[in-house]
Amino acid sequence: MPISSRESRILIIGGSIAGLTLGNLLHRNGFDVHIFERTPGHMEGRGAGITMLPGLIEGLQAAGADVTEAELGVHLPVRIALGNQGDILAERTFPQTMTTWKRLYDALRGVFPADRYHDDKTVQRVEQNEARVTAFFTDGTELHGDLLVAADGLRSAVRTQLMPEVKPVYPGYIAWRCLADESALSSATHATLFNRYAVWFAPGQQGIGYAVPGPDHALVPGKRQYNMVWYQPVPEAGLARLLTDDDGHYHPNGIPPTALSRTVLAEMMARATDLLPPQIAEVTRVARTRFFQPILDLQSPRLVHGRIVVIGDAAFTARPHVAAGVPKATGDALALAKAIHGNRGDYPACLQAFEHTRLRVGRTMVGRGQYLGAYMEAQLKSEAERLAAETARDPERVMLETAAPFDYGEGLADYHARN
Ligand SMILES: Cc1cc2nc3c(=O)[nH]c(=O)nc-3n(C[C@H](O)[C@H](O)[C@H](O)COP(=O)(O)OP(=O)(O)OC[C@H]3O[C@@H](n4cnc5c(N)ncnc54)[C@H](O)[C@@H]3O)c2cc1C
Repeated sequence: MPISSRESRILIIGGSIAGLTLGNLLHRNGFDVHIFERTPGHMEGRGAGITMLPGLIEGLQAAGADVTEAELGVHLPVRIALGNQGDILAERTFPQTMTTWKRLYDALRGVFPADRYHDDKTVQRVEQNEARVTAFFTDGTELHGDLLVAADGLRSAVRTQLMPEVKPVYPGYIAWRCLADESALSSATHATLFNRYAVWFAPGQQGIGYAVPGPDHALVPGKRQYNMVWYQPVPEAGLARLLTDDDGHYHPNGIPPTALSRTVLAEMMARATDLLPPQIAEVTRVARTRFFQPILDLQSPRLVHGRIVVIGDAAFTARPHVAAGVPKATGDALALAKAIHGNRGDYPACLQAFEHTRLRVGRTMVGRGQYLGAYMEAQLKSEAERLAAETARDPERVMLETAAPFDYGEGLADYHARN
C-alpha cells in the first residue's frame, strides 16, 4: 500500500557515488533515508580520473551539489592520438572536462546530512517479506526499512546474496593507473600532454592520459595532476603474482597501491620504457601513485527483487574505455529517485519501469566497453586474431570513440543542446 515519503524509510548500502547521489535526491524529496558505508571515516580518492560525460553535472546538481562543470575539473579542448615513438598521429577539437572521483564524492557527501551517513557499517546479509526489508550488519545490529538499495559496488554483498550466479568476467587484460604531480613532469612532456586528452598506442598495448585537479582539488597551473591508464594483456593465471605483496599476502579483490610488490612495479616501469610513448613512460616513472585493476565485465539479469534494488557498479560494471561508471551510477540514482517519488512508495509496483530502462542502459554500456576493448582482448588469442585486431585498429577512430558521449538509451538531447 502506498505510504507517505516521511513514513517511508529507505536503506542505502554503499556510500560512494551511486549511494550518495540517490541519498541526496531522496532526502531532498522528504524520505527517511540512511546510507551505510563499510569504510570508516571520510573516503580517500581512488587515483581515478573521471570524464564529465553528458548528464553527470545535471545529476550532481539535482542531488543538491552546488557545483558547475568549470569548478569541478580541468577543461581540455583537444584530443590527440600518440604513437609509440611519441609522435602525434592525429589531433581533433574535442572539448571535455576531467575531474576526480574524490572531487565528486566530496561534493555529494558535503550536502548529505552527517547524521544519516553511517560509516564503518558493513552489511552482511538482507532479508525481506511483503511488509519490509531488514539489513543485518557485521557488528551484530539490524535495521528495518521499506526499501533497500544495494549501491555496494562491483563485489556487492547484497547482489551476491540475491544472484550468486552473477560474477565478474575477466577478459584478459589489466589497467595500470598512474597519477603524477603536474610539477613532476618534464617541460617537453608537459607541453605535449598536459592540455590535451591523449589516446596512445603501442604494439599490443593501448591507453589514455589526461590532466585532472590536484590532490586538494586545485585547478591552478602547476598544482594539478596527470592521470594515466595503460591497458596491458595479462593471462588470468598471471594475476595472482601481481596481487601478491612483498610479504607474500595475496589480495584477491584488489591490492592497495601501497602494498604493490617492488618487483612488479619495477617490471612495469621497465616495460613502459621499452614499449610506450616516451612521454607516457615518463609518467610511470615520476608518478606519486601507481596501481592496477583487472578489467572486468559484470552484468545483472535483474535489478529489482521485491523491496531490494541494485544500482551502480553493483548492477553493471563496464570496462573503463567507456568512462561511464560514474555517469551511469548517477543516472541509475536519478531514475530510481524519480520512480520512487512519483509513486509515493508503492514499492514493488513502482519499480518495474525503472528496471526495464536501466537494464537496457547497463547492457548497452557493458557491450560498448567490450567493443572498445576488443583490441586488448585479442592480445592473448591466436596470432590470426591478433593480426586482425592490429589491422582493424585505427588510431583516429579509437581517439574519437574512447570515453566519448554515447547514447546508452537515455538520450543525448541535453548534451547536444549544450554543445
Ligand atoms: C580504479 C578505478 C578507476 C575508475 N575509473 C573511472 C573513470 O575513469 N570513470 C568513471 O566514470 N568511473 C570510473 N570508475 C568507476 C567508478 O568509480 C564507479 O562507477 C563509481 O564510483 C560509481 O560506483 P558505485 O557508487 O556504484 O560503486 P562504488 O564506487 O564501487 O562504491 C561502492 C561502495 O560500497 C561500499 N560497500 C561495499 N560493500 C559494502 C557492504 N557490504 N556494506 C557497506 N558498504 C559496502 C564500498 O566501500 C564503496 O564505498 C573507476 C573505478 C575504479 C575502482
